This record gives sequence, C-alpha cells and structure tokens, in this order.
Amino acid sequence: MKQLIRDLSCADDYDPNSLPVDKARALIRAFLEPVAGAEQLALRAALGRVLAAPVISPVDVPAHDNSAMDGYAVRFSDLNADGETALKIAGAAYAGIPFNGDVREKEAVRIMTGAVIPPGADTIVMQEHAKAEGDCVTFGSGHRRGQNLRRAGEDLRNGQTVLGPGALIRPAELGLIASLGIAELTVYRRLRVAFFSTGDELRSIGSQLEEGQIYDSNRYTIWGMLNRLGVETIDMGVVRDDSALLEKAFSDAAAMADVVITSGGVSVGEADFVKEILERLGEVVFWKIAMKPGRPLAYGKIGNAHFFGLPGNPVSVMVTFYQFVRDALLVLMGRHPVLPLPLLKARCTNDLKKAPGRTEFQRGVLTQDTNGEWTVLATGEQGSGILRSMSEANCFIVLSEAQGRVAAGEMVEVQVLEGLV
Ligand code: AMP
Ligand code: MG
Repeated sequence: MKQLIRDLSCADDYDPNSLPVDKARALIRAFLEPVAGAEQLALRAALGRVLAAPVISPVDVPAHDNSAMDGYAVRFSDLNADGETALKIAGAAYAGIPFNGDVREKEAVRIMTGAVIPPGADTIVMQEHAKAEGDCVTFGSGHRRGQNLRRAGEDLRNGQTVLGPGALIRPAELGLIASLGIAELTVYRRLRVAFFSTGDELRSIGSQLEEGQIYDSNRYTIWGMLNRLGVETIDMGVVRDDSALLEKAFSDAAAMADVVITSGGVSVGEADFVKEILERLGEVVFWKIAMKPGRPLAYGKIGNAHFFGLPGNPVSVMVTFYQFVRDALLVLMGRHPVLPLPLLKARCTNDLKKAPGRTEFQRGVLTQDTNGEWTVLATGEQGSGILRSMSEANCFIVLSEAQGRVAAGEMVEVQVLEGLV
C-alpha cells in the first residue's frame, strides 16, 4: 500500500488538497480486494448475499421440448400449405402429464402450455387457430414448422455457468437457482464493519443534553446505510476527542472488523486527532476532496482493516458514504462488477448557486410531470449540518466540478436515492 500511495502522490495532477471525486474513487478502488472467506447457505438464506463460486447448471432447462401455447401438437408434414387440414384428436398432454404414445400421421394431440411435446409432433398450432368438433380438429393454412415450441436446453444447457462469482442473489436469482433444483449456494462471508462517532459534544439518545452538547445522529445514519447493504455492523458508540481513547478505539475496531468507519475529527482543528493517530497505527491517505459537502476524507488501512474517516457534518457523512464508501464496501463484499451509480437527466425547476472548482451534491426532490418529464427541485437550505435536507430529498443533484450556477429550466444530472442501498 505504501508503494501505491507513493506512486499516486508522484502523479502530475495529484493534489491532496483538492482531489477530484472520480480520482478519489479510483484510488480507493486500487486498494480493494474482495474479503477472503465463504460459506455454504441454504438458498433462501442467501438472499442479498454475493456468490463466491459459480452456479453451474446440472440439467437442461427446460428439460424437454414443450409447448409454448395451449393448442394442438401436430406433424407439420400433415398440414396443407394452402387450404384447411382436418386431423383426428388422439388424446391430450398437460403440463406434468404427458400424452401416452406417439402422434401418428393425420393425428393431433390437444396440448397445454408447458406440456412435453409428444413424439412424432414437431409443431404446435395455437388453439385460437383451431376449430375442434368431437374428435376432429380443423386448422387453416400458414403455419411454420417448429412454431410455438420451447426447445430442451434453450434457457440453460447442462454444464453451463448460470451465475458467476460476484453476482448478487436477488429474487430473480433465487428463482433461477431453484429452477435448477439447487438447494445450497457458496457465498462470501458477511463483511464486518465497525463504526464510531468522535466528538466531545456528542451524547447518545436517552441521555440529557447539557449546554453545547448534541445528540449523535451519524451513528444512526451510518448504521442504517450499512444495514441496507447487508453487512454485519459493530456499533462502538461515541469516542471522546481524547488521543488515548481514540487510539484504543481504532486498534480495537481494526482488530475485529474488515472495515472501520468513523465520523468527525478529520479536519485539522485542535481536537481533530484522527489523522495523527492513524498515521501512527496504520497507512493512511488523507484527502481534501474537491466536493461539497464532504471535503475532508481519510482512507487507509490499519493492519488488514480498511479505514474510512468521514467528516462530522451529518449531510457530509451521507454524501461521502454514498459516493465513496458504498462502492468500496460492494467491492469488499465480492460484488462484481461494481458499476457507478446511474445518473438521470432532469429539468431543474429552480436556480442553483454553484461555483466551478468542485463537484456538488445538492439535495433534490425528483418528480415526474404530467407530460412524463422528470423535474427536480432543490431542497431549501443546503448547509451540510441540515439533515432535514437529506430526509426531504429523494435524489442528489450532481453538479460537475467545472459547472457554474444553474438557471431554472436547465437540465441537470441526478442520482436517485430510492433503493440505492
Ligand atoms: P468535526 O468534523 O468533528 O469538526 O464535526 C463537524 C460538525 O459535525 C460539528 O458541528 C459536529 O458537532 C458535527 N458532528 C460531528 N459528529 C457528529 C455526530 N456523530 N452527530 C451529529 N453531529 C456531528
Ligand atoms: Mg469533532
């Protein structure tokens, strides 16, 4: 890691006092490897987990040629190319109950969707194109050999890799894997993330506040964001701005977790010990990111644990978590590929103040007009301490580094927060 830090600090455009968001993201990514360790889980227990080994199909899916329609299974060679065809109904095939026998010349078998194609038949005529009377059925012309048939193995072939390592197990994957008859999966073990807040002014809910004290809210947002990602959380509470206490908290956290996340104390005020302690305990890169909110960010390693020192302001915590920590955790959890959060274009309905030189993440409310156009309105006050703005918002309005102020009516890019983690 030291070498990597040295390399990057020698790069021409590297400025630790004003590092672009994308660059910081890419640099963090360079240090990350999926966590080692996997476990076997029953299929349902694997929902939300990440595959550590491929899922290989032990069967053809579907296992047999079967009908895609309710209709009649016939021999294509029996059908008149021009004019009607009348065939004898020899029996019926249902999903799960095959027709017992062959379809012989001039015969048709009534067939339901999903039923196995009886031997001899090669074509399905859908029931809407058939007229049945007694044991006789009549079709018009214009059919294709092999129509309305689902072929054995057309979905998956025996031996085919169905899902690779890195796949997230979502409801679709549960169903897909169940369709193969597989009952157990190998998934990465859960990532362990320890977190604590730093600050003499912080009190936990349930205690009385004295003058100048505030309730610790960051531990709650961080806990919530971590839980949505499905990691194991270790809440270490509030740690005072005391060098010895902080040092102990950092080394305890690093000993029991894969990742340590803290908030506060990363600026370089008098009581901001984080930088100095980390430099003593581990290998740390400190950046001032060219972004608003969320300027100071520490990233590094203490032993094997990755460390993220987030700023103290509650909005900055959420913004930096979504912009840097979330991606990093996904990589560590084994997810592959980890794609950047998608950006949507929306028309901005108010003027936005913005100075070029840093990326801004303003909080916005995205709505859809009656004409189907997406529009976004910035929440009022954009101060980094105003958590209400995050609660009101359903998106970040992402204003790029080079961009200046935005006039009402212009298009802007937004990151949708709904369902993000
Ligand atoms: P700091 O980065 O420690 O200087 O903190 C910046 C601002 O964020 C200060 O106003 C702190 O009181 C506030 N702050 C820091 N940590 C928390 C927290 N856990 N919950 C709420 N506010 C916090
Ligand atoms: Mg502080």
